[in-house]
Amino acid sequence: MPLRSAKFTQTLKSAATRDFLRRRAFPAAIPFLTLAAWAVLGEIGLMLAATILPLPFLLSPLKSSDRKDADGGDFDGLTGLLLQAALERRMEAQMVHLTDAGNATCCFSIKIDGFARLRENHGDQTAEEVLRVLANRIRSALRARDIVARSGDSAFLVSLDPVPNLDLETAIQMANRFQASVEETIPLQMASIYVTCSIGFCLSSRLNRPSATAMIQGAEMAMSEAHLSGTSNIRAYTADMGRKVISRRKTQSEAARTLQKDQIKAWFQPQISTDTGEVTGFEVLARWEHPERGILAPVQFLDVLNQTGQMGELADLMTRQALNAVRAWDDASLHVPCVGVNFAGDELRSPTLVERIQWELDRNELDADRLGIEVLESVIAGTPYDMVVRNVEAIAKMGCNIDLDDFGTGHASISSIRRLPVKRIKIDRSFVTNVDRDTDQQRMIAAIVTLAERLDLSTLAEGVENAAEHAMLSQLGCAHVQGYGIGRPMPFEDTIQWMEDHKAKLGPAMTIGQKSG
Ligand code: C2E
Ligand code: CA
Ligand code: CA
Repeated sequence: MPLRSAKFTQTLKSAATRDFLRRRAFPAAIPFLTLAAWAVLGEIGLMLAATILPLPFLLSPLKSSDRKDADGGDFDGLTGLLLQAALERRMEAQMVHLTDAGNATCCFSIKIDGFARLRENHGDQTAEEVLRVLANRIRSALRARDIVARSGDSAFLVSLDPVPNLDLETAIQMANRFQASVEETIPLQMASIYVTCSIGFCLSSRLNRPSATAMIQGAEMAMSEAHLSGTSNIRAYTADMGRKVISRRKTQSEAARTLQKDQIKAWFQPQISTDTGEVTGFEVLARWEHPERGILAPVQFLDVLNQTGQMGELADLMTRQALNAVRAWDDASLHVPCVGVNFAGDELRSPTLVERIQWELDRNELDADRLGIEVLESVIAGTPYDMVVRNVEAIAKMGCNIDLDDFGTGHASISSIRRLPVKRIKIDRSFVTNVDRDTDQQRMIAAIVTLAERLDLSTLAEGVENAAEHAMLSQLGCAHVQGYGIGRPMPFEDTIQWMEDHKAKLGPAMTIGQKSG
């Protein structure tokens, strides 16, 4: 008997049976089958049929991860949204009505920026909670007949029900609305999370022969373009985007050879003291000044340089240009105490690193404390006592300043921070965003500042975008600030004018008799 019942359950679980059970014919047949059982077997038959026939439904629950709707569309188990293949099928059906009365539709691809990092920093559970919240927000920003799906790990696709008069302006407004709802604070149990998203969209009117596949491809291509221009951007699909993608692939292979061509330049972002307002340094950020494609951010070429083993050369180039800048500022009687250069893990492993830095300092006749080395917290966290630690120790011994970059995201233990001669921690932008309004953010910054004080380290907050954040960080005891609200990264030629303007803004009253941060 147990064997038979196991076999029965097995049969119920088989795909074919589940398929049959889902069909509407079976539930419809239950009353008839019950009556037939009564007619043939009498009351016993009636009782058995009434008890046994509904059993398959009770014993064959549909898992949320493979739920199917009436037309066979698959749902995502985590968010409850459709999956991409199902969205595509429904879009095809919707698009049949496109030609009616000049209707148009639009497909949006919405990708959460830096989701892999969010998952790494906050864990799977939080990442999943964020996805669920965002899925609900996007769904509630839509009308009932619009379709939304999850696509890949951290993206959503939206397809609008075809309507007349859907133009570029309306699509941009909708994209703005999606973006605003995604980028609102996500209050979770332990902390608030902020995410940004990149959105690309494709209007059916932009395609010669609109199909679901072409619309999705167009939206995703536009989203990639948005993503490559930085975080929190929106782009519309245009016919020449395909050509751009091909040209970008070419650009990437070109990147491998570009260091020799002197097109990668150091740009400079100012850092100021919250105490005096004076400039306390500049961070050096690499920019590719491409002759055809304009100014390209590191996200577009660092990977290629990494893969082709050229990060060491990049570090040399940036250090040289940074120290040339310090020399030039000194010669122009502009006081910039220190310039910070980013060093990735591999560059820090080079056995000749220390001599190369010393050589550049000597060449410019500069003291070592005019140069700062930015080391990612994640590099320190994962490093046993090896070449990285030895190099960082030697660079610090030489007199250079060591900044711990992206602090709060890399899980470095306090002992690993103590082990290295770190002078300052750079508090990651994720703790800074909205710090003026969000008490959770304020608590985090206060905790980090206290920790830094106890460890005798200075602090700098990154990504400060406005005066309110700046004021709050100052109040919380953060010593230095850096971000678009103070100044965007700029080429060397613009730094002198920027410093003159900044000095004029400070006025004489601010600069007299105040100590530096
Ligand atoms: P990072 O070291 O954390 O640099 C700060 C990034 O934040 C820069 O992006 C900067 O432009 C951006 N940023 C500054 N203020 C704000 C703000 O107020 N709001 C927002 N949203 N962003 C702000 P960028 O220049 O695109 O650089 C990205 C990353 O690439 C850097 O992050 C750094 O890790 C890496 N990187 C840049 N240059 C170099 C380099 O020469 N060598 C190495 N190894 N890495 C580099
Ligand atoms: Ca940095
Ligand atoms: Ca940083």
